Amino acid sequence: MVFFWKAENTENEEAQAGTDLDDLRKGIEKAKLPAPVALVVGKELERLEKMDSSNPDYTIGLNYMDYLLSLPWHSFTEDNLDLKRAENILESHHHGLRLIKERVLEYLSVRTLCSLADFQILVVDDEEIARTNLAYILKKEGYRVVTAGNGLEAVKKMKEHSFDLVLTDLKMEGMDGIQLLEYAKQQEPRPEIVLITGYATVSTAVDALQKGAAHYLPKPVDLDEIRATVRGIRDKKRHLQMTRSPVLCFAGPPGTGKTSVGCSIAEALEREFVRISLAGLRDEAELRGHRRTYVGAMPGRIINEIKRVGVKNPVFMLDEIDKIGQDFRGDPASVLLEILDPEQNQRFTDNYLDIPFDLSGVMFIATANAVDKLPEPLLDRMEVIYFPSYTAREKKMIAEQYLIPRQMREHALTRKKIEFSDGAVTKLIQDYTLEAGLRNLERQIATVCRKLARIYVQSEQDLPPLRVDESMLERLLGPRKFRHEIAVAGRQVGVTTGLVWTEFGGEIISVEAGIMNGSQQLILTGSLGSVLRESAQTALSYIRSHADIFSIDPDFFARSDIHVHIPSGAVSKDGPSAGITIVMALISLLTKRPARRDVALTGELTLSGRILPVSGIRDKLLAAQRAGVKVVILPLANEVDVQGLEADVTEGLEVVLADEVQSLVDVVFGKD
Ligand code: ADP
Repeated sequence: MVFFWKAENTENEEAQAGTDLDDLRKGIEKAKLPAPVALVVGKELERLEKMDSSNPDYTIGLNYMDYLLSLPWHSFTEDNLDLKRAENILESHHHGLRLIKERVLEYLSVRTLCSLADFQILVVDDEEIARTNLAYILKKEGYRVVTAGNGLEAVKKMKEHSFDLVLTDLKMEGMDGIQLLEYAKQQEPRPEIVLITGYATVSTAVDALQKGAAHYLPKPVDLDEIRATVRGIRDKKRHLQMTRSPVLCFAGPPGTGKTSVGCSIAEALEREFVRISLAGLRDEAELRGHRRTYVGAMPGRIINEIKRVGVKNPVFMLDEIDKIGQDFRGDPASVLLEILDPEQNQRFTDNYLDIPFDLSGVMFIATANAVDKLPEPLLDRMEVIYFPSYTAREKKMIAEQYLIPRQMREHALTRKKIEFSDGAVTKLIQDYTLEAGLRNLERQIATVCRKLARIYVQSEQDLPPLRVDESMLERLLGPRKFRHEIAVAGRQVGVTTGLVWTEFGGEIISVEAGIMNGSQQLILTGSLGSVLRESAQTALSYIRSHADIFSIDPDFFARSDIHVHIPSGAVSKDGPSAGITIVMALISLLTKRPARRDVALTGELTLSGRILPVSGIRDKLLAAQRAGVKVVILPLANEVDVQGLEADVTEGLEVVLADEVQSLVDVVFGKD
């Protein structure tokens, strides 16, 4: 009985294997794979045909082939290069961001020029009829075509003129196709070569491909195939011309529009849009796949996404490249370079696929909050475009024109004609969010919309259009989340306010200093990085060596310990720009003069008390505005940065520029 069941099962398996392989063969025929892939697939099919279907390798092989066939080897979307349309799309989705929009439109213009450039073909064949027929067909397709009757004549023509593609016969007197291929490879710019041969055998084909031919076609040539091949090569060349321009990297605090601009670019070009986050990425294999020899091997995320969208030229956003896991196994920069560099990504090899897949048509856009920690070689290949923090006025405008209407639509409230009062929008920004971008603002608007939706649904009678004013906002969202603590903090001895730049934009910090009996120790707490620790040491040494200027007892440190603490100990902090904030906290402590908390400082300190310039001025000023700071002290050398700013950024702030510490005493402690 058992034996009989087994026999029946084996027959079933065999029948199943037969249909599997039949399906596969049909699939291969339909897929019209590129020559190198077709070779691999052919070999794999042969291997499967010889294998018992109960062998676990058989299923692995079948899945592999299925995967190969499902990849978009040839499919791509045609770019829409209508500049006016692209401009309208960018404008309709984004307020401001002038420089970014300009850069995107320039990018599209280059692309348009590339696509309008003639594609020049050299047809080489010793048979006149074949040569003229081929030239005729290609000219009809809109290409510029020149012909040559043999290899030597072709070389002469290539010396006079550069071609994008050489279509050559293999067997010719004097100089054959392979020799011509060898010659063409040395040319700059190097043309693509397609060999046409009446003696197409697998070995000549492999030989030609190994020597660098783009493709080979058997004689008699199938006209559709030749048209498709030439079109494929032309499109690839265009993509390459475009991708040779550096990869764009959008950098800026969260919620400043990096992802949504990427989305709009895809929409403008009519390309598919893919986004993967690299945050916390641990292993190269996540991007590049596992070798098939591993149990449960899978392709990497890049190829998987390409398969999912079904085209080889999407806009592909690599989000948060600065957040790749610290414990990454392998070198993240080299993997990313292989993906992003058009020279290398033409032959991107996923470990699972084990055959190169051409990623040169993909338009990669990377995003990062801060680029300063990215490896140099990677930064070199990218053009960093900074997305600035938004001013309060910009936020208000964006909320009114984009975020509120969008959230209304998404919560099916558009028909209810709800209005937000001016004061309510300002309150939302000032009392419920504290950020450089718009993420929380949009979240808070969504919360209001949800609550409004509930009010409408639960109400017994038809409600008139609601108006969200400040008091209604407070009822819906609860008491304010943030208050201007700095503005109301008054004065304190040994505590000063500083401005620093983090990946979230500008931030306010307080520096606290205390003194106690001890033995000349400088205690530093608050998760401070090494540069910040050195700044604190510099500040202390400066005061010890200049004690008399500030009327401080020169022996103050003889029997004391000094403690400098920067609160929010859980957040690690580093950088030189807190130097003058620390020195003023120490001077306040040692002279017992209370420091104004609504005066915020930023600047690097030298041992002689000079103040050196720092970066991120715009973001820092906006953070000062958000926190209710009245006076901002900046290094004199940053004057040019301040002059280039919009009036909105400095509104309500008194900006004091200084180049040495002594002159700050009156500003920070008050003249009296
Ligand atoms: P990021 O990728 O920089 O973190 P997002 O692109 O996710 O930011 O933007 C957050 C939200 O803010 C999105 O809903 C986006 O549409 C909106 N947004 C950002 N900048 C603008 C702008 N300039 N105009 C209109 N909406 C914007």
